[in-house]
Amino acid sequence: MRAIRRFTVRPVLPDSLKPLGDLVNNLRWSWHPETQDLFAAIDPERWDACGHDPVRLLGSVPTDRLHELAADKKFLRMLELAHADLEQYLTGDRWYQSSAGDTAPRSIAYFSPEFGITAVLPQYSGGLGILAGDHLKTASDLGVPIVGVGLLYRHGYFQQSLSREAWQEERYPLLDPDGLPISVLREEDGSPAKISIGLPGDESLTARIWIAQVGRVPLLLLDSDVEENSEVVRDVTDRLYGGTTEHRLRQELLLGVGGVRALRAFSRITGAPDPEVFHTNEGHAGFLGLERIRELTEGPAGLDYPTALEVSRAGTVFTTHTPVPAGIDRFPRDLVEQYFGGENACHGVPVDRILALGSEDYTGGDPSVFNMAVMGFRLSQRANGVSLLHGEVSRGMFGGLWPEFDPEERPITSITNGVHGPTWVAREVFELAEKQGVDPSADRPEQIFEAADKVPGSEIWATKRVLRARLVEDARKRLAESWRHRGATPAELGWIDSALDPDVLTIGFARRVPSYKRLTLMLRDPERLKRILLDPDRPVQLVIAGKSHPADEGGKRLIQEIVKFSDDPEVRHRIVFLPNYDIAMAQPLYPGCDVWLNNPLRPYEACGTSGMKAALNGGLNLSILDGWWDEWYDGNNGWAIPSADGVDDPDRRDDIEAHALYDLIENEVAPRFYDEDAEGVPVRWIEMVRHTLRSLGPKVLATRMVRDYVQKLYSPSAATSRALNHDFGGARELATWKQRVLTDWPSVAIDHIESSGVGDSPEIGQTLEVTVYASLGKLRPEDVDVQVVHGRIRHEEDLVDTHAESLQLAETYEDGRHRFTGTVSLAQTGPFGYTARILPRHPMLASPAELGQVALPAHV
Ligand SMILES: *Cc1c(COP(=O)(O)O)cnc(C)c1O
Repeated sequence: MRAIRRFTVRPVLPDSLKPLGDLVNNLRWSWHPETQDLFAAIDPERWDACGHDPVRLLGSVPTDRLHELAADKKFLRMLELAHADLEQYLTGDRWYQSSAGDTAPRSIAYFSPEFGITAVLPQYSGGLGILAGDHLKTASDLGVPIVGVGLLYRHGYFQQSLSREAWQEERYPLLDPDGLPISVLREEDGSPAKISIGLPGDESLTARIWIAQVGRVPLLLLDSDVEENSEVVRDVTDRLYGGTTEHRLRQELLLGVGGVRALRAFSRITGAPDPEVFHTNEGHAGFLGLERIRELTEGPAGLDYPTALEVSRAGTVFTTHTPVPAGIDRFPRDLVEQYFGGENACHGVPVDRILALGSEDYTGGDPSVFNMAVMGFRLSQRANGVSLLHGEVSRGMFGGLWPEFDPEERPITSITNGVHGPTWVAREVFELAEKQGVDPSADRPEQIFEAADKVPGSEIWATKRVLRARLVEDARKRLAESWRHRGATPAELGWIDSALDPDVLTIGFARRVPSYKRLTLMLRDPERLKRILLDPDRPVQLVIAGKSHPADEGGKRLIQEIVKFSDDPEVRHRIVFLPNYDIAMAQPLYPGCDVWLNNPLRPYEACGTSGMKAALNGGLNLSILDGWWDEWYDGNNGWAIPSADGVDDPDRRDDIEAHALYDLIENEVAPRFYDEDAEGVPVRWIEMVRHTLRSLGPKVLATRMVRDYVQKLYSPSAATSRALNHDFGGARELATWKQRVLTDWPSVAIDHIESSGVGDSPEIGQTLEVTVYASLGKLRPEDVDVQVVHGRIRHEEDLVDTHAESLQLAETYEDGRHRFTGTVSLAQTGPFGYTARILPRHPMLASPAELGQVALPAHV
């Protein structure tokens, strides 16, 4: 029989166990091992059986056991300690309160389509979601006042299994919100708080708001599965990244527009401050800017569109995450018109304006699409990529938005991703550091890595073995389960007891399976791979995992290829594919690996974070110089697989890179790993582990990343935002100024350039005096920045390594003409060149490229 309705009955805790409720309902337990110990103590077997999910645990523990615990002095003492620790964590001053400064925002809203916080809240698919989860947890640790905004997917992302034929199968288990560690946001009268949004054809989309408490950070999750909605609309939040284009548009409408409305409801009900900065993690939540403009135009402020746009832009930060053009979120223009026009049009944000924001109206753009990333840049004053290299690639990729500017001047900066230490570092690694007298709970996590030099090599090695053995054990369990699912009988599974070996060099490779990540590069020469795995003296084992997007047949074929290879009895004890890569698998996987392999097609890996997690656990990276590794590989903290950039034939490129990979494993990695001293410790390997921890540890931690966001983006954004928003005078002035500059810009020109002070044979140390005669039309000299730009010369006349120096106004003539002067000192020998240019100037601009305008000398 099928149930027509289901719900989860929560237990009533005896009084003395009431604090347990607080500990279960705050997800801080997921990165706090002591709280996990407390849950385990309730019933160790049940704790394991329910996948370390405290809500399920409490829902299944017999009442008798609860009463027993209620009288258990030792347990109550543990409970009291854990509860007091949580209280202190939630209320004490942290880094933000002591060090972020006065300009730091009162509150920041962080929007993301997915959040990977813990395995028991499966609302993520991969890196983007894990990063968002790490961002919130780290913000909590640092005391940064963030509120997360996302969607609650009824099925989350799919669970992966394999068919007999090694084909990926997807299951979407129904999640019961009452069984998740979340609670519904309620109005004062106890009814659920709701928001709603108009849809085409007289329909509307209503959503309730769930709250997941992530330490100090509330995460609001919108859920369309409510009675008011039609069947179709209820399904808007059915699953992550599923369905048609229109379905995705509805999800993004709910996330962006609904997200702002949910924040307003949250502030109204709880008294939380309104966010001053809105951060959108990738373009999917970009519609949030439209909703904020609507509030300002149609609400009590009654601003005009250009002024409201300035207000909204000043307080918005946009992070782009993909250098893969196909990964950019685009909608048919008509569809956007349908959703924001007609009966849903609002006079404050006319649909033409909206279409213009997402339009690819540049060379090479497609006029029929609405591009969410392009809108993201236009609706946010500050934007970034997620590694140095990705910032550079993004400045190239979106160059059409600032066609007159050299790539390095386009207003996209970069903040390299990081990972949340307490989530991803094995407890044993923290304990090694603690034994050296380091307190990892202190505000200086980099201390842990200083301890790396003090811990004896033999202890590091022993700990790595413990971690490897744990991975082997976990992998065997998963393999057995997978084979049962694939239809094997128990008698056929004996070999699994000796699959993998806790003393063999272990290489990990786990990630989603889009083609650029090249899951099967290692299979390029199967015989050579076999020889590497089966080497009698220096064997290697590979642990592989990854999900393919359900609609990506190509990705599924790659998985099938690798699984078929690993099914071979000759190698199956040395290479395994573990289905259903998720946080639960990842946590023992990274620490258990000696080497983390990454071989993407450069430069398509925007950052990558799994290698960071491996590094924090003493794993060495073996990777193509892409994403974060391009930035921080220093020659001694792992290995760089040379990439055959510029080889156009993809097959040949794969060949070259695969062989470089085999060579590295055979000649560098394996010999070093197996080169043990008399005590059985591979001294040179350990040296590299120490160097990895020291050189990468502090950089790859998300504490560094979140501090960077606060200092480089959130605080400047809040400062501009405040300056503009004070009775909106600043915004009005800026909007009017921009309009004026854009109207009059065609009359801005460089008429003539003169220089003196350097004779026929220029020498280092001399000073060049530059004079620029400029026509500014109706603009005033203070509206512009007249610059001399100088640098080295490459390819005859290209200026590189440029520096810009502002010139001073020297004289004003009739008809809007002016003379500007300044000097440049010749500080470098070799080919030197200069030019002049005029840029718009206003104190509230975050970048001189913001208006996309520049006047250069006419070419003769
Ligand atoms: C870290 C992590 C990712 C992202 O790793 P990349 O290196 O960015 O591919 C994906 N899934 C899980 C479960 C992770 O823990």
